[in-house]
Amino acid sequence: MKEFKAESKRLMELMINSIYTNKEIFLREIISNASDAIDKLHYKSLTDKKIKINKDDFAIIIKPDKEKGTLTISDNGIGMTREELENNLGTIAKSGSFDFKKENKKKENIDIIGQFGVGFYSAFMVASKVEVISKAFKTDEANLWVSEGIEGYNIKKASRDNYGTDIILTIKDGEEYDRYLDDYELKSLIKKYSDYITYPIKMEIKDDKETKMETINSLVPLWRRNKKDISEEEYNTFYSDKFFDYEKPLRHIHTKTEGTLEYNALMYIPSHASYDYYSKDYEKGLQLYSNGVLIMEKCADLIPDYFSFVKGVVDSADLSLNISREMLQQNRVLKTIATNIEKHIKNELITMQEEKREDYLKFWEAFGLQIKAGIYNSYGMNKDTLADLLMFHSLKEDKMVTLKEYAEKNQAEKDLYYACGSSLAQIKALPQVEAMEAQDKDVLLCPNYLDEFVFKVMGKYEDKEFKNVCSDKIDLDSEEEKEELKTLNDKSKDLLTLMKDGLDVKEVKFTNRLKNHPVCLSSEGEISVEMEKTMQAMPMNENITAQKILEINSHHPIAKKLQDLYKKDKEELKKYSKVLYAQARLIEGLPIDNPTEITNLICDMLVK
Ligand code: ADP
Repeated sequence: MKEFKAESKRLMELMINSIYTNKEIFLREIISNASDAIDKLHYKSLTDKKIKINKDDFAIIIKPDKEKGTLTISDNGIGMTREELENNLGTIAKSGSFDFKKENKKKENIDIIGQFGVGFYSAFMVASKVEVISKAFKTDEANLWVSEGIEGYNIKKASRDNYGTDIILTIKDGEEYDRYLDDYELKSLIKKYSDYITYPIKMEIKDDKETKMETINSLVPLWRRNKKDISEEEYNTFYSDKFFDYEKPLRHIHTKTEGTLEYNALMYIPSHASYDYYSKDYEKGLQLYSNGVLIMEKCADLIPDYFSFVKGVVDSADLSLNISREMLQQNRVLKTIATNIEKHIKNELITMQEEKREDYLKFWEAFGLQIKAGIYNSYGMNKDTLADLLMFHSLKEDKMVTLKEYAEKNQAEKDLYYACGSSLAQIKALPQVEAMEAQDKDVLLCPNYLDEFVFKVMGKYEDKEFKNVCSDKIDLDSEEEKEELKTLNDKSKDLLTLMKDGLDVKEVKFTNRLKNHPVCLSSEGEISVEMEKTMQAMPMNENITAQKILEINSHHPIAKKLQDLYKKDKEELKKYSKVLYAQARLIEGLPIDNPTEITNLICDMLVK
């Protein structure tokens, strides 16, 4: 018996004792090796005219044998000589970029098995004995390589009719391994991991009467086919098969890039958010293939968080199968692909927005929050990428519009106006919004808690500032009106100070921007009333509040009433202030601290 080389031993140990739950990937590894071996012979036959091989004969054959407890994977590829068996299987392949020095932590090991596999040795996760019978192309001698684990391996002469390799795995005992001899399970593993291997993968299926060969893989992956030959239905079926979503996707994005960097990508925009999409359990990522072989189920580095809803596959000939995870993250090829993919997705979304508004609105309904979070979470760093994807409800048009549309329609305005609240109906009824409407101004109505944060982070769109009609100073008055209001406020200084006294506000003042309502609540500084509500709802709130201003409609009869009371009955004026402030809070959707007192005051006024 020969001993394995030291580093191979460590890898073997890792495989044999693997507690990794995804042991099934061993099949992918062995099939990939078989496919590589056929590739090599195929290439030889293409470059050497003397070699006559019919490429239609190339195949990978899978034979489960329940009685013997073995699974055999055969190929008619290039095969291995005795020396090659020794060199390739006796020591870990130098071609694999498996870096042992990084392999200290057990957890890390498990990850690497899952993400990339480590080739041939993964067979030891499921097999107690591994036999390899191989005959190299254009030689007469076949050899058998056998290993039952860490101790070592033997090589002896064997026989094989033709060139190629058989890998015979004696599957470990135990229920968890039974699936590797089951036709149905094997078929689904082949479909899952090796569907796009370019040579037929045939499986021997036996029943009482006959033994037949069934080709399991689809041979040409959809993403490598020509766009014009693919029907909408094929795209949709692929989507539902692959991503287990039985609702049709809104759109597919199919790109082929050739030249210095070669890759194909087929991506989908789902029509709805999966049940776990907005939870922390959701994992983003695209399936990553290297030349038709799946190397990673969810490659997160390929898409930014704000496009995490995108499902799909990327296949590149420029990535090696055994690339490790750390290397993948720094991989230049992958980074370039990711940058391109982001652009593709953005462009498709814009096209959908322009050409298929109905679909886009569905998309927005499902994933708008993610786009908004993308702007907010990056402190605005991604605003240039994402701003044009945003949609808001326009007061004037009473429908969803893009910022571009809103800005174009309201070119004459100095600023961009928005108002926040809990529902469209509530926002429309806000005194400040009603006042804007009376002046024929358009306002973006924002019922989502993130909206205001998004505007604050963005600050501007094109060259105009976002202004909250409830808290920002909105300058719509003529000089004359401004002067008039200033005089009124100056003259009423004592009255307003007295009113402010018992209230939790920074200021009480007269305004001329309201239409029918007697009062409204606005704020000063960074925190608006709407933001206060959002922050108060958070579990760890630090009692952050807005600096509130109670504004009184100077054209409303209440203004005169207050002035009268100031002269005649200051106690009564204080009661009025309390009631008016409570009213303003209620309109804004804020609670009132002293409901009993307020309702009693109202009742007193009613009976007078
Ligand atoms: P890798 O595929 O990354 O090189 P593996 O451990 O999977 O690493 O395989 C080691 C080597 O063994 C391969 O590089 C290849 O040369 C050889 N090999 C494995 N399986 C086969 C096969 N079915 N036919 C021919 N050679 C094979």
